[in-house]
Amino acid sequence: MTDRAVIRHAAGAVRIADGVIVSAGPEPAARPGEQVHDLTGYLLLPAPAEPHVHLDKALLAGRIPNPAGDLTGAIGASRRAYRTMTADDVAERAGRALREAAANGCTAVRSHVNCTSGIGTTALRALAEVRRTAPVTVQLVALAGFPFTGHALHRRLLLDAIEAGADVVGGVPALDPDPPRAVHELARIAADHHLPLDLHLDETTDPAVLTLREFASAVREHALEGRATASHCVSLGQQDASARAEVAHLLADAGIAVVVLPQTNLGLQGRNAPGPIPRGLTAVAELLAAGVPVAAGGDNWRDMFNPLGRIDPLETAALMVAAAHLTPAQAYHAVSAASRRVMGLPEVRLAPGYPADLLAIAASSPEEAVAAASPQRVVWRAGRRIAATRLVRDEMHWTDMRLPTGNLEPPPRPAAGRPGSAGRG
Ligand SMILES: [Zn+2]
Repeated sequence: MTDRAVIRHAAGAVRIADGVIVSAGPEPAARPGEQVHDLTGYLLLPAPAEPHVHLDKALLAGRIPNPAGDLTGAIGASRRAYRTMTADDVAERAGRALREAAANGCTAVRSHVNCTSGIGTTALRALAEVRRTAPVTVQLVALAGFPFTGHALHRRLLLDAIEAGADVVGGVPALDPDPPRAVHELARIAADHHLPLDLHLDETTDPAVLTLREFASAVREHALEGRATASHCVSLGQQDASARAEVAHLLADAGIAVVVLPQTNLGLQGRNAPGPIPRGLTAVAELLAAGVPVAAGGDNWRDMFNPLGRIDPLETAALMVAAAHLTPAQAYHAVSAASRRVMGLPEVRLAPGYPADLLAIAASSPEEAVAAASPQRVVWRAGRRIAATRLVRDEMHWTDMRLPTGNLEPPPRPAAGRPGSAGRG
């Protein structure tokens, strides 16, 4: 059931029916049978989308610790977690995370899912079930195990995952003994199965690990232009200026999009650096200048790779402002329009004919939406209202607040007529 509704917002109103926007502009009179959502204090935006997360591991922080805090420690901890990751366990955590994502504004989520020795395709099959009833669009990337080249079991598990309904082919070529060959083999499998390709290109600040040139040539060779995504790409940020620009143009020419995962890579990379601490971010400015679509995602929602993660695209957007030096409006684009493009979803605009995937948020501008990230949000996916969050805040006057007593002296009584003078100073 989709809404037939008029959404009043700060700048006018939109009418939605049958999952799409049918008019936008000054407020139209509501017609019989239409709901009216009065959100006149809210900003209405195309909804965000999450282009890269790991639902199979979501909310696992605490179950298996990663005291080292780095990538090697996280990979070891996730292998130790496999025996606890039953189908029911994966589905329960993923369901919780997806409901949170939906409430925060995401109407689509792309999840990489480990399909490797130790867990097989258990998590992927569990998430394929979750996908059927999720409140948002879910895309599953079969994340092939590493090493991939010459490893018959990992190849078979990837093919099994495709058979079980994976939407995208994924893998981790940087951790293969032969990264260029891994890139080409994974690209061939994607092309043979008519699926998009989305690889974890690399998560290292070692500038010598750079397989993006091979990725661009594999995408061309297998005619995957426009359906290929390079995730992470951390080593590109460690190249000199001319190499960053040269590789960015190669990616643009091959129709490759890049997904930046700021929270995880700022946390995992740069530890134990002997000299100045490098940042685990790719060359965002050069990629944008070359015309590469650059999206940003959450990657790890509170697991052994990243203990943080509010499952909120506006948290990712804020990191893209602080760490990748985008403007707030560019950062919102990275977590909304660019993310949808990575996922092959139709564009959303506040105009007739576009999908009614919308976020109304208590804010007066996109800048304020990113900066304040108000929890007060209403979310529509395909014209259906999927979540509404209201904030109840009791604001007490300072002089009305009871300070804790314990060993403290009781607060002085305020002087009459000078409430601001109360307090302990
Ligand atoms: Zn990832």
